[in-house]
Amino acid sequence: MRATSRRRPANRRAFLTATAATALTSAAGTAAAAPARGTAGAAPRPATADEALATLLEGNRRWAEVHSRHPHEDRARRREVAHGQHPFATVLSCVDSRVPPELLFDQGLGDLLCVRSAGEVLDEAVLGSLQFGVAEFGTPLILVLGHERCGAVAATIKQLRTGEPAPGHLSRLVESIGPAAWACRDQPGDWVEHTVAAHARRMRDTLRADHAFRPATVLAARFDLDTGLVRVLR
Ligand SMILES: [Zn+2]
Repeated sequence: MRATSRRRPANRRAFLTATAATALTSAAGTAAAAPARGTAGAAPRPATADEALATLLEGNRRWAEVHSRHPHEDRARRREVAHGQHPFATVLSCVDSRVPPELLFDQGLGDLLCVRSAGEVLDEAVLGSLQFGVAEFGTPLILVLGHERCGAVAATIKQLRTGEPAPGHLSRLVESIGPAAWACRDQPGDWVEHTVAAHARRMRDTLRADHAFRPATVLAARFDLDTGLVRVLR
């Protein structure tokens, strides 16, 4: 795994990217200059992809065992992040109401930059939001999080099985998830579950191939609704 911390722009394109992100930050009224540590006494902000992943998985274990600590929610943390943020990971997850990243990773205010779209589908707005996390806040890790029994994946499988077009804007989701579903149509077992993993890996690989995300390590994972556990996909 490539573990990187925030880097200074090394070339003109990177500089322009960082400049554009900074302008976006200013326009949005947020501030990037934030302390690297959280609430006094709390663990330091994870600085590498390895540390970020370990922190996420530790938090997920707490959550799965119903031992969440609910960190970084107190008054001191609110004051700390009111004027700046320094999230340590960017998470792309589904909009599914059962998959809120801050809860299932047991993280708090200012810890995660979360981007959510049905079925983790990528479009320009999602890509721009993910780039915001990498270019502006230097998150060393992007995690694409698929999940068990994803409705967007199930709708895609249904469309492939019946041939009935998805209504309205839902067709965008089917178009995006379709290639992964089609690629694993002959695998034995649950077609939806195979597609959940295949699609998360495909979104991961798309991000890895994009120059904008080179400064970060991009991983895919699957969230199990039954156990509450997140597993990294190889
Ligand atoms: Zn879903």
